[in-house]
Amino acid sequence: MAERTGPVQAQHRFREAAVQVAYTAFIRHPQLCDVCRTEGMDCETAATLRQVWRDARAAVTA
Ligand SMILES: [Zn+2]
Repeated sequence: MAERTGPVQAQHRFREAAVQVAYTAFIRHPQLCDVCRTEGMDCETAATLRQVWRDARAAVTA
């Protein structure tokens, strides 16, 4: 299937990978963050990670 990888498909795969990376970072963040873990709410970093994830998802469906 290597011959079916044009620029468009490559870009789409790149964006899907970006979503996965952003999602993983957002999900794992509370494990490393006392504020998120103890207070159960998003800190500034978590909010940023959430926004990055949303932007990445939007880019995939755009
Ligand atoms: Zn946090």
